[in-house]
Amino acid sequence: MRVAFLGPPGAGKGTQARELAREWGVLHLATGDMLREAVAAGTAVGAEAKRYMDQGALVPDDVIIRLMAERLGAADAAKGFILDGFPRTIAQAEALAKLLKDLGQTLDAVVYFDVSEPELLRRLTGRRVCRACGHTYHLTSSPPKRAGVCDACGGELYQRDDDREATVRNRLEVYRRQTVPLLDYYRARNQLTTVSGEGPVAAIREAIRNAVGAER
Ligand code: AMP
Repeated sequence: MRVAFLGPPGAGKGTQARELAREWGVLHLATGDMLREAVAAGTAVGAEAKRYMDQGALVPDDVIIRLMAERLGAADAAKGFILDGFPRTIAQAEALAKLLKDLGQTLDAVVYFDVSEPELLRRLTGRRVCRACGHTYHLTSSPPKRAGVCDACGGELYQRDDDREATVRNRLEVYRRQTVPLLDYYRARNQLTTVSGEGPVAAIREAIRNAVGAER
């Protein structure tokens, strides 16, 4: 299984990708997570990326493309993957097509998560993330049992800097300008399949399984 999840920030791509990658036995490759790890580790890539991430802007294509070329070329990626948050620009989509061609692979599907803007704002500003395991919560719609503590691993919950409202608005604007053109790009190649990203998490997951032809 080789698929890409496409959609605005807050659409639920990460939540679904984490679970489905486990179910399908493939890698979950989230560029946002990879960049946050690089920032935490204090690498040169992390230092450069942080300047953009803090403003809700996209990290330059060449940085992201280099990162993904390395990751997709590694032996463990041969078993399949879910791309989460990549590609985000036409240049990245073109680079991905070339990378996969060189590896003798193709994408099975691109799944677009359709979610309304007021719902995205509500989700992002209320989102809390576990520092230790990455599990996500929402202050009102899926709160942890104990405030500030991860149910899954006991880790500390925090609000991502870029989930504050002003940055969220900028991220949504950047999405409209730079990522929405990918919908037509993949539609024209008959690779785009749309699921509603609103409603119960389990129902959305089932819609994704159906969209990519995956059995339970
Ligand atoms: P995310 O966790 O997917 O919301 O990503 C967080 C931030 O990381 C984004 O706002 C961007 O600054 C950066 N980022 C993640 N993926 C990409 C990408 N494919 N291209 C450029 N920047 C990215």
